[in-house]
Amino acid sequence: MPNDASPLYEIYDTRFRNRVVPSAGLEELYSDCRWAEGPVWFADSGSLIWSDIPNERMMRWVPGGSVSIFRSPSNFSNGNTRDRQGRLVSCEHGGRRVTRTEIDGSITVLADSYKGKRLNSPNDVVVRSDGTIWFTDPTYGILSNYEGYKAEPEQVSRNVYRLDPSTGELDVVIEDFRQPNGLAFSPDETKLYVADSAASHDIEAPRHIRVFDVMDGRKLTNGRVFCNIDTGIPDGLRADVDGNIWTSAGDGVHCFAGDGTLIGKIKIPQTVANLTFGGPRRNQLFITATRSLYRVYTTATGAQVP
Ligand code: MG
Repeated sequence: MPNDASPLYEIYDTRFRNRVVPSAGLEELYSDCRWAEGPVWFADSGSLIWSDIPNERMMRWVPGGSVSIFRSPSNFSNGNTRDRQGRLVSCEHGGRRVTRTEIDGSITVLADSYKGKRLNSPNDVVVRSDGTIWFTDPTYGILSNYEGYKAEPEQVSRNVYRLDPSTGELDVVIEDFRQPNGLAFSPDETKLYVADSAASHDIEAPRHIRVFDVMDGRKLTNGRVFCNIDTGIPDGLRADVDGNIWTSAGDGVHCFAGDGTLIGKIKIPQTVANLTFGGPRRNQLFITATRSLYRVYTTATGAQVP
């Protein structure tokens, strides 16, 4: 049972109590999105970029409260991250592709097809320390014209891919998900966590996160259910340096210990789509939740850069 007086938190385990600050409030930094997604922190410029998918734009927040349009139109961008050179890597529903924004602002297409057929609609992306780019490819962006352009899938499955941008080699690493969505490596990159959000359109479908062992930086083995989400669905997720997994859910952000135990929740007034750690100490949790961008300070430290 929750045992904390703050309505912001539900604390089930001392491991979570030690990662949050009961007096730290929830800040709403922006509230005029249609469906906010894909937050990524830019430590060098001290700013946060995220996607507002149906409005076909990317936004930028800087400390002090200024929000501006970073890119419009955005090709219905969704998940974002940075590569090891600090370049923005984005999933685009509209182009059904993964792109990289170069230092000079030009856009390079990294992947838009597999075996000669178009990708579905890349959703979320993460970069490993070896520079490889791992992304999910569910069908959300082609189901209707709301978040992309309605189309029939060309791929027979909804895959998770590993891209080596140095060679262009694109491999399927998972092909048995209903709708793969958010993904994150464990801090030591020996594990990959991947959310299946298929329950968004089928209440009988999974609403869980699976974890895989990473073999030689190339293959995934030993897939098993890491956790089930008790409210809503899992979408984007992140790890902290202690191996806890912070995931989006219907009623807020859920935090799972590395052993799969739900140790606490941060209650958010709107459905959460994604989150990321940021700030100079990577202890600020930025949360994209339906129409708004929120922030809450924690005592956790986000794993990896960004
Ligand atoms: Mg997503």
